[in-house]
Amino acid sequence: MNVTAEEQSGYPCDQCEKGIMRTTIFPKYETAVEGNPFVVENAVVEVCDKCGNWNVMYKELERWHKAYEDFHARDFMSPQEIRSLRGRLGLSAIDFARLLGTTRQSVRNWESPRRQFHQSRMTDSILRLISDSLENRQVDVLEFLCARAAVFGSSLGKKIAKARRAATVSLSVKKVAPEPEAAVRPAVSAGESVAAGSAVGEAPASYGTGSHLLYDMTNMKDCGALTYDATIATVSLVLWSPWNGAFAAELRIDDGWQPAAKVQIRNGKAPLLQGANTAIFDKIRELKLTRLD
Ligand SMILES: [Zn+2]
Repeated sequence: MNVTAEEQSGYPCDQCEKGIMRTTIFPKYETAVEGNPFVVENAVVEVCDKCGNWNVMYKELERWHKAYEDFHARDFMSPQEIRSLRGRLGLSAIDFARLLGTTRQSVRNWESPRRQFHQSRMTDSILRLISDSLENRQVDVLEFLCARAAVFGSSLGKKIAKARRAATVSLSVKKVAPEPEAAVRPAVSAGESVAAGSAVGEAPASYGTGSHLLYDMTNMKDCGALTYDATIATVSLVLWSPWNGAFAAELRIDDGWQPAAKVQIRNGKAPLLQGANTAIFDKIRELKLTRLD
C-alpha cells in the first residue's frame, strides 16, 4: 500500500486553509459534461468539510466523460440502422454520399460495425430527418431539431414556439374542378337491394361534399385542402403537415374578410366554419392562420 495517511483521511483545503477535503460519494451527481446537463452515478468528489470547496480527480472526470459517451451512444444511429436506411432508399454508398453532400468514405465509416467514433450529432440529425421524411413525407424540421436538442439536455422548444407565434400563414384557395355528379354520388345499380334508411339509400338527397386545395403563398406549394360536408354544413381544414394548437383563422369570402375565429388544429385537422352552405364554400378565396398558443 503506498497510500499515505494524509490521503486516507483527506487533504487540507487550499481555499479556506482550515478544512479538510473529504472523499464524498454522491449517488446522483448533477453536473455538466461538454456543456450538456448530465447526472453522474456514484460520483466521487472531494469536498471541504469547512467551506464546501470541491474538487474532482482527473481519473474520475475521465469516468464521467466515458459515462456521458456511453449514455448518448444509444442516441446515435447505429451502423446497422444507417445501412438499413440506405437500403430502404435503394442507394449505393456513393449515391447516398451524393445525396448528403459527403464522401463515400464517410458513409463507409458510419456503416462500419467496427467504427471507433459515431457520426456527429449534426450528421445524425440529417440521417434521422431522411428516415422520417421517407416514412412520413412531411417532417416538421424545427420541431424535430428541438426534440433532438432535448435528448441532449437543451430545451429550446419555447424559444422556437415564440418565433413561430409571430408568423401568420396565408393560404390562398385553388379551385378544383368539380367532380362529375356520377362520380360523387354513391352508385346504386338497378336491382341492387339497398336496405331502407341505410346510409347509401339516403345519401343522394343530402349528399354534397367538395374540396378546395390550399396553396401556401410563402413556400409556393399546395399544403392542404378545405373540404365541405353538406350533411353537417361544415367547412373543414385539412393540412398535409401535422400541425397542432390554437390558431386564429380568418377567411376571405369573395372580397370580405370574416372576423377571426379561434380554431383548434389537431394533427393538421380542424372544423373551420359551421353552418355554411355550398354557395359560401364556393366563394372562399383565402385563409389566414395565426398561431395563438
Ligand atoms: Zn475549505
